[in-house]
Amino acid sequence: MFKKILIANRGEIALRVIRACKEMGIGTVAVHSTADADAMHVRLADESVCLGPPAAADSYLNVPAILTAAEITGAEAIHPGYGFLSENARFAEIVTEHGITFIGPTSDHINMMGDKIAAKQAMRRLGVPVVPGSEGAVTSEGEISGLAAEMGYPVLIKAASGGGGRGMKVAETAADLGEAISTAKSEARAAFGDDAVYVEKYLGEPRHIEIQVMADSHGNVVHLGERDCSLQRRHQKVLEEAPSPALSADERAEIGTRVATAVRELGYLGAGTIEFLYENGEFYFIEMNTRLQVEHPVTEAITGIDLVQEQIRVANGEKLSFTQEDITFEGHAIECRINAEHPETFVPSPGTIGLYHTPGGLGIRVDSACYTGYAIPPYYDSMIAKLIVHGKTREECLMRLRRALDEFVVDGISTTIPLHMDLLNQPAIQTGDYNIHWLERHLGLK
Ligand code: ADP
Repeated sequence: MFKKILIANRGEIALRVIRACKEMGIGTVAVHSTADADAMHVRLADESVCLGPPAAADSYLNVPAILTAAEITGAEAIHPGYGFLSENARFAEIVTEHGITFIGPTSDHINMMGDKIAAKQAMRRLGVPVVPGSEGAVTSEGEISGLAAEMGYPVLIKAASGGGGRGMKVAETAADLGEAISTAKSEARAAFGDDAVYVEKYLGEPRHIEIQVMADSHGNVVHLGERDCSLQRRHQKVLEEAPSPALSADERAEIGTRVATAVRELGYLGAGTIEFLYENGEFYFIEMNTRLQVEHPVTEAITGIDLVQEQIRVANGEKLSFTQEDITFEGHAIECRINAEHPETFVPSPGTIGLYHTPGGLGIRVDSACYTGYAIPPYYDSMIAKLIVHGKTREECLMRLRRALDEFVVDGISTTIPLHMDLLNQPAIQTGDYNIHWLERHLGLK
């Protein structure tokens, strides 16, 4: 096993990886920007290295500085967490070229799935159902309007390199097409330096359901069921749950097996998430994430499996510690993403936290790097905590979540805790009868 792992990330996910390493007896190296010198991940790691100034480009995205940190501390592997360099194929390649293990899939797989057009083509070839749309990139408005007329409006123009909901525009009718294409292209060019776009049928009332897989280098691939991430604002997940209130055990087994088979065919290694839209009993692939997801704890809660420890084991060439038959789904889990944002306007609210008190008790997990007196730097993501609640049934889980949100104290800044409280009072949330548009409609944004 590795003796030392460098965690190329910050915040709650850096802590998450440090915790897994500690339980496995592995030494940890934290890296940080000058703005994060007092951060929790720096305090909890065995060693730490400052990468540079606050801007992510100079610190958490600074590849030479990260590699130097790994070399001088003698780290044998790098865990990228999520965000930052986690889906950067070139980074994975450079790490490997330096004789350091990248805890994740090969750069070829990251590359393939990072190009959403190539990803869809690969999945279609492997027998996974995809959203109807163009086979590849589309260039002319004429070509898109031909396809759109065939599929029927509305259609969605999406960036091949897209992520985080950017570079995506709906055209309700043929008249909107020109503008949707040019806006999607310019957004994609600005955000990803690549303005290739493709077109998809815009599904009316789907749920977002994703399947977690884990693969080792011995040909074993296991699926760990689904997560329902339909509660979204601006295509960003707000609350996730497992299992999905919409799926039957048969549907779960069927899609899980199909996905695991495809991932085995690919020769994929490590943790991966295959994202689908689900409508009228049908699954439609949208993309694959080649990393650990923010919402992985709901899967951990219902399976009892530590996904990060498993990522580390398979990166070290070991076999998965479980088979498909070993996986059972116990109870229900919900995760609330708590952001330092105004709960109604969603304007970021960085600043210094006064009193910070987290809920506890049976079935409660809080993943956060916050503490009383912590000054949230304005430079990074606004998510400051994840509250994950597990119960025997969905009903028990909802009751426990209400109790936990009630106990949560984050003074001095605005957070989205009141939004989550409000969600729990909504009949659609209580019954699980919601789709990807529900939250924006509820917030009056649609
Ligand atoms: P990103 O990589 O930017 O997150 P995704 O392809 O994963 O983009 O899509 C993000 C979200 O956008 C989905 O969860 C869903 O809410 C919405 N979406 C994506 N494709 C479609 C589609 N064809 N029809 C309707 N909604 C879609």
